[in-house]
Amino acid sequence: MSITIKRYYNSTKDFFQFYKILKQLACPHCGLIGALILNGKLKGYDENEDKGKVVRGRRVYCNKRKKHSKGCGRTFSLLAVNVLKNFRISAKSFWCFLKNIVKLTSKIDAYRKEEFPLGSSSVYRLWNRFLKSQSHIRNLLTKRCQAPQNSTTLNPAIQTIEHIEKAFSSSSCPIEDFQYSFQTSFV
Ligand SMILES: [Zn+2]
Repeated sequence: MSITIKRYYNSTKDFFQFYKILKQLACPHCGLIGALILNGKLKGYDENEDKGKVVRGRRVYCNKRKKHSKGCGRTFSLLAVNVLKNFRISAKSFWCFLKNIVKLTSKIDAYRKEEFPLGSSSVYRLWNRFLKSQSHIRNLLTKRCQAPQNSTTLNPAIQTIEHIEKAFSSSSCPIEDFQYSFQTSFV
């Protein structure tokens, strides 16, 4: 049985469990087993600038530097589940924004309702990415459950948010659970 490569971890313990079996896993690029090694932390800014750089994930390297290792030399990243790839805003903050959109329907009102640590333009950029990711998100959600039948809106983005809520109904942050369950980026 092949073990699929993780792309998201939800705790330090989860990360170390992955680390322990790294040598048994096939590289997602070349398929070689036994060549993967950790290659440092992924540091960057999150939404709280004053904290300075934080660890957002780890980099995994398919080793070709050792004499007997025939790895392909490529890397991939393993991200903390609260990280939205290429964005500074956290999954939790963006989920607040999405829930506000359902209630208020306007992105400007949804932004103003919270004290987001980032400027509106970065939140709207992520909202636009979310709009473009509709089919990716819905396709995965459908594997878990059908979209709610009792939706009262014709707005497809709001329907998607309702679908996410239904799929992860007991979750405090459905975006984190989405990334963890499907081991892929939300947007
Ligand atoms: Zn490789």
